[in-house]
Amino acid sequence: MNRLKIAAGNWKMNTTLNEAVQLAKDYKNGSRANNVISILGVPFPFMHAVLAELEGSDVHVAAQNCSEHDKGAFTGETSVSMIKSIGANYIIIGHSERREYFGESDALLAAKLTKCLEAGLTPIFCCGEPLQVRKAGTQVDYVKSQLKNALSHLSTPDLEKLIIAYEPIWAIGTGETATPQQAQDMHKALREYLEELFSIEIASHIPILYGGSVKPANAKELFACEDVDGGLVGGASLKADSFLAINNSF
Ligand code: PEP
Repeated sequence: MNRLKIAAGNWKMNTTLNEAVQLAKDYKNGSRANNVISILGVPFPFMHAVLAELEGSDVHVAAQNCSEHDKGAFTGETSVSMIKSIGANYIIIGHSERREYFGESDALLAAKLTKCLEAGLTPIFCCGEPLQVRKAGTQVDYVKSQLKNALSHLSTPDLEKLIIAYEPIWAIGTGETATPQQAQDMHKALREYLEELFSIEIASHIPILYGGSVKPANAKELFACEDVDGGLVGGASLKADSFLAINNSF
C-alpha cells in the first residue's frame, strides 16, 4: 500500500516571532523531496505570520492543540474554527506533554478529535507509552487502549483523514530513540489493531508516524521500516537544515 509520507515538526513552546518566520522561510526555500508532505507545528501566536510566509508553498502548518469547545467563555483556549480561519489545516492532538502536564484524558482527546474533524481539519493524533510500561513489556496493550478510547467513535470518512503518531514517552526529547525494530513492531501491532477495530482498508490507509528523538542520523533507518510512514519531530525541527535532512530521508 502506498501511504502518504509525512515529515511533521513540532516546535513546542520555542522561537520568537522573527525566529519562527525565518525558520519557516529557510525550510520553505530548502531543497525538499517533493513526494513528502511537510508540516510545521507552530506556536499559536506565530501561526498567522508563518502561514503568510508559506503562502503559495507546499509546506503546511499545524496547531499544537485545540479546545474541545466551539466558542465562548474559555479564557486562554483556542477553538478549531479559529485555527481554520487563519488557514491552517492540521492539529496535533494528544501529545504526551499535553496528556502529562495538562491532564488530557482519552475522553477529552476523543472530543477534540471530533471538533477537529467536524471542521474539516486533519488531526495528528499522538499515542505512546511511558518508560515503566515499556519496562513491564505491556506497551502494545497500553497504546492499543489509547487508540480504542480516543478513536472508536470515528466514522470511516473521519478515519480516512486521520494521521497517528506513535511517540514512546521515554524517547521524546531524551536523545534516546526507539530502535527501528521497536518502532516497526509497535506500528505493525497498531495497524493490525486498526484492522480489528475498523477495517483492512482503514488500517492500510492511515499514516503512522514515529516520534521520539528523530534526527538526520537515524531518520533513514526508521523511515525504511514498512509500517513507519514518517516522523513527528521535536528538537530536530527547530533547525531548517536538520528538518530538511529528515524530510529527505525517505
Ligand atoms: C515531539 O515533540 O513530539 C518529539 C518527538 O520530540 P523530540 O523529537 O525532540 O524527541
